[in-house]
Amino acid sequence: MKEKKYDYLIVGAGLFGSVFAHEMTKRGKKCIVIDKRKHLGGNVYCEEKEGINIHKYGAHIFHTNDKKIWDYVNQFADFNNYINSPLSLSKGKLYNLPFNMNTFYQLWGTKTPEEAKKIINEQIAEYGFKSPKNLEEQALSLVGKDIYETFIKSYTEKQWGKKATELPSFIIKRLPVRFTYNNNYFNDMYQGIPVGGYNTIIDGLLSGIETKTSVDFFEDRISLESLADKVVYTGKIDEFFDYKHGQLEYRSLRFEHELHTIENYQGNAVVNYNDASYAFTRIIEHKHFEFGKQNKTIITKEYPENWNRKKEAYYPINNDRNQSIFKKYKEESKLSKDVIFGGRLAEYRYYDMHQIIASSLTKVEEILKIERQ
Ligand code: FAD
Ligand code: UDP
Repeated sequence: MKEKKYDYLIVGAGLFGSVFAHEMTKRGKKCIVIDKRKHLGGNVYCEEKEGINIHKYGAHIFHTNDKKIWDYVNQFADFNNYINSPLSLSKGKLYNLPFNMNTFYQLWGTKTPEEAKKIINEQIAEYGFKSPKNLEEQALSLVGKDIYETFIKSYTEKQWGKKATELPSFIIKRLPVRFTYNNNYFNDMYQGIPVGGYNTIIDGLLSGIETKTSVDFFEDRISLESLADKVVYTGKIDEFFDYKHGQLEYRSLRFEHELHTIENYQGNAVVNYNDASYAFTRIIEHKHFEFGKQNKTIITKEYPENWNRKKEAYYPINNDRNQSIFKKYKEESKLSKDVIFGGRLAEYRYYDMHQIIASSLTKVEEILKIERQ
């Protein structure tokens, strides 16, 4: 049989595909990476304008508790000491996030952890659930009614386009609740923004590897597949199987970028707009991720949108219906011996960057282990 030109055809130049390509190339495998977008990097891609790195697909803050993953990304870029401390604008007032002693003071005037815990515990006792079955029940059981109604219900329902009672509870467990005056959005040990933006990491990962942008796998599937022994697929898993077990649901977003000829628009990188009266969920002011001193500023309003096949799929919607469809695709994917599925869309999981990198590194290890046997 004629030898194929590449060991791996990697579909998707996001973090999963880029880490996979880097690791396999290091081990002497020949890889080619394609992406249907005009650029590499997937959702972490940044575009520079006015000396500001714009997070084109929404705010990306790197955080991890895993020293191995932190050391891994630090091979490709230095990180600054940015700590994400978003604000929330709710009913005309600004609050600190995540839910912490500052938020409780702004909401109720409580000054000590004991005072705040008393209010929260009373509300949990009245409105909480022993075994929460959805996001609303989970939120009421974690933080009570005031916080749920001020910060969670409207934001969540516009973000996901579904009632909080129809959403899985794990989504809200992403947010810390703290009884200290600490506005750090993440609990992780390591956090920051890569100096020079995320493209620096992607460029480092893909250095010396053949890449092709503006190439959609499905437009030339047969000839692309024939190029390599194996395919690494990081797109939507249902699309790969031509939606045969049904359409999975995703949430899409629309990003509106604005240039303002002022130095400082909102004084913080991220401000959440929690009320239903705003169609967007947050405004990002990019320069603050890198402590920029430019005399102009660029902001991005993030509007959640219904997804359809013509739009980008940003978030999997992991409710029961979708999970049961995904299970069928997952079973089917195990039969495709020459295709490796990975990443947020192929694994249909609400993964952060550090989890994607870990998942890609694990996949590489699994493959190498089998090869060694
Ligand atoms: P992607 O980055 O989506 O890459 C997949 C690539 O595959 C895309 O470039 C796509 O164009 C390509 N592709 C798909 N189908 C095809 C096809 N048919 N042919 C060719 N190419 C194809 N994580 C954090 O850790 N911190 C954050 O602050 C954070 N904020 C986020 C904010 C938003 C708004 C979003 C949406 C995500 C955020 N994330 C954050 C998550 C982070 O973006 C992901 O974990 C990570 O980028 C996923 O990498 P990936 O390679 O799986 O997917
Ligand atoms: N959330 C909320 N209010 C907020 C921020 C977040 O209710 O002010 C909920 C919302 O359901 C959101 C989830 O918490 O989808 C996770 O928030 P995170 O900021 O982690 O979302 P991401 O940055 O991944 O969009």
